[in-house]
Parts: sequence; C-alpha cells; structure tokens
Amino acid sequence: KLSERLKTVASFVKENTILADIGSDHAYLPCFLVHEGVITKAIAGEVVKGPFESAKKQVISEGLQNNIDVRFGNGLEVFSDVDNVQTVTIAGMGGPLIASILESGKDKLSKVDTLILQPNIHAKAIREWAIQEQWKIEQEVILEEHDKIYEILVLKKGIMKLSEKELLVGPILSKEKSPIYQKKWNNELNEWLRIVNELNKIPGTEVHQKKEELEYKIALVKETL
Ligand code: SAM
Repeated sequence: KLSERLKTVASFVKENTILADIGSDHAYLPCFLVHEGVITKAIAGEVVKGPFESAKKQVISEGLQNNIDVRFGNGLEVFSDVDNVQTVTIAGMGGPLIASILESGKDKLSKVDTLILQPNIHAKAIREWAIQEQWKIEQEVILEEHDKIYEILVLKKGIMKLSEKELLVGPILSKEKSPIYQKKWNNELNEWLRIVNELNKIPGTEVHQKKEELEYKIALVKETL
C-alpha cells in the first residue's frame, strides 16, 4: 500500500530510532515503520487540520496510539528535547519549503542525528541549507513513480563542500548517473533550451541576463550527463 517513494524514505530509517515525521498527512510512513518492526516510537506532525485528523484516524484504525503520537503544529515545533527525537523525515514538499521548515526549527536539531528529506522539486535549496548549517549528504537516491521523479537526501551532521554543479544536481546522483537521473536532467535541459529559444526572440538586457543564467545552468548540467 505504501508508495515506492515513501518505502525508499523508510529504508533509511535506522532500527529503534525515535522518529519525527513532519507533514505526515495520513501518517502512512510512521505507521509502516512501526508495523515493519523498525521503530516503536514516532511523532507525526501536521500543521493543517484535515491532514492532522487523517493522521489521528489512521493511527487509531491501526491501533498504534501507544507508538505514534500525532501532534498539531508548524514544522519542528511539534517536538522538544524531552522527546529525544533522533531522526526527522520530511517528504512530499518542495525543497525550499523543507529548507525553511528546517531553518525555522534548527534549534530543535541538537539531538537529531539524521535528516531524511524527500523534495518534490528544487533539492538545491536543501543542499544549500545543509552546507550553511553543517550537515553533510550521506546518501542520495532518485526514483520514478507514476511518471514523477523524486529525490531523497539523507543528511548527517558534518562539513561538506559542493561545487555549483553538485549543488544543483547532487554530488552522489551526478556520479551515479542512473537512467532516471539522466531522464530528469534531459527533461530539464529541453525545457531550459526551449525557454532560451523563446528569450532569443525578445530584445533587452534583463532578458539577456536571464538567458545567460539559463545557458550557464545548461552547460553545468550537460557536463554531468
Ligand atoms: N509526508 C507525506 C508524504 O510524503 O506522502 C505527505 C506529503 S503532503 C503533500 C505535505 C503535507 O505537509 C501536507 O499534509 C501539509 O499539511 C504538510 N505541511 C506543509 N507545511 C507544513 C509545516 N510547516 N509543518 C507541518 N506540516 C506541514
């Protein structure tokens, strides 16, 4: 029942860790992990009433109230030091939103050792935040499901340096160059080339600058394919 996307996120959760799943919606991820016997304690956070109620219902219907605590609140504010959270998962949102949730809640991360993040778009925002806040990429995965391509980043505490290119495409993903990686970036390249072509028809310095930015990104990504 669980999507391949969330199963892959789940595969990085270590046994017996205390998990906070932020933006949990139906709480499918923590429910799966408890059923699989990977963990026994999780917090499911939600900031929107509907999904919060869905999460509570799901946890009760699976009889997991003793294992999963569904809490209402914005981002990481749903847990504090007494909860001893070691792993945080945030999945199914844009990279900039995930980065902003981490940035707003960064004082909650002192005891957390693993962040498992699944941005739907713009993973670069997460890599930038990670460098700034001294987290390093331990693993990166790219997968396709229902015609959508997803990236998953696993972060541990530590210093990392990334080039402009690695920030954009991922240091591990760009080394692996999997068929899905190539598909994703070929799609992006085609889209950027289409835009450059459109911009070529318009005069003006602002347009020229936008075009140069895109051409720079095109050159960066092409090198990795
Ligand atoms: N994590 C699930 C998954 O990957 O299938 C649900 C993804 S759903 C598209 C995103 C969820 O994040 C929504 O239920 C939304 O209410 C919640 N969300 C968005 N911003 C949030 C925030 N700042 N704090 C907590 N939850 C948030």
